[in-house]
Amino acid sequence: MHTPGTLHVVATPIGNLGDLAPRALEIFRSVAAICAEDTRHTRQLLAHFGLERPLLALHQHNEDAQAAQLVQRLLSGDSLALVSDAGTPLVSDPGFRLVRAAREAGVRVSPVPGACAAIAALSVAGIASDRFAFEGFLPAKGGARRERLSGLVGETRTLLFYESAHRIEEALHDMAGVFGGERRAVMARELTKLFETVLDGSLAELRAAVAADPNQRRGEFVVIIEGAGDDADAKVHEGRRLYARLSEHLPPSTAAKLAAELSGAPRKALYGSGRENA
Ligand code: SAM
Repeated sequence: MHTPGTLHVVATPIGNLGDLAPRALEIFRSVAAICAEDTRHTRQLLAHFGLERPLLALHQHNEDAQAAQLVQRLLSGDSLALVSDAGTPLVSDPGFRLVRAAREAGVRVSPVPGACAAIAALSVAGIASDRFAFEGFLPAKGGARRERLSGLVGETRTLLFYESAHRIEEALHDMAGVFGGERRAVMARELTKLFETVLDGSLAELRAAVAADPNQRRGEFVVIIEGAGDDADAKVHEGRRLYARLSEHLPPSTAAKLAAELSGAPRKALYGSGRENA
């Protein structure tokens, strides 16, 4: 009977290669093979550190099929490492099925912690970090995206989203539309890389900054949005959102009266709160 190997789940850098933990290198040297989301990408990372190791492809399209075989290999005594292209495996990345299968088979699964874009962004955002909800990527289609966001309007925890360059503008537009342009947020772009930028402000301000400057639409993004305040705050947010929409079509006093009625917020908190919330 063999002693089973260990599955090491190893975080890799999200930009700056200096962020790879020294222990990650030790593990890469010691394991029988490294399961990688994109073997070419990981080969380059290893080459940077002067390593050449056996690599196995494990991505969203073959993970189900591969997991059982890899668990057999672990049970037979081989240790393996699991990496994704960047950051922490399983966080909006493959690996969940393999980790679950390994745990179910009684194989030891051990982390080598390191970079994670969401946590790196949270650590510099200056937005309450005691309770937060990681929402990963929003749906690509506008309707589904707005529906997902609408379900989060009353969420009081800080919200974390991943976003890509080709959707950041529409995403910020929908976030401002659904949460209200005044909701505080941070956009963290290209963390640990040359063009690292952390912008904070209201959602309306972030949306305007991204619309005005094509450079702010390049790279990889984490968007962090402050949670809804207590009930009274939530009513004012909702009231202002309604006021902004209604005042596009109605005189301000009528828009404020209707928005106050519909949201339960005091009218004077809405009147004159502006169209920038739309
Ligand atoms: N597993 C990774 C982690 O631990 O962060 C995330 C992988 S997910 C497929 C890639 C997304 O993470 C990007 O689209 C972006 O939203 C975010 N991301 C990755 N690197 C980043 C960086 N350097 N700066 C900002 N966001 C980043």
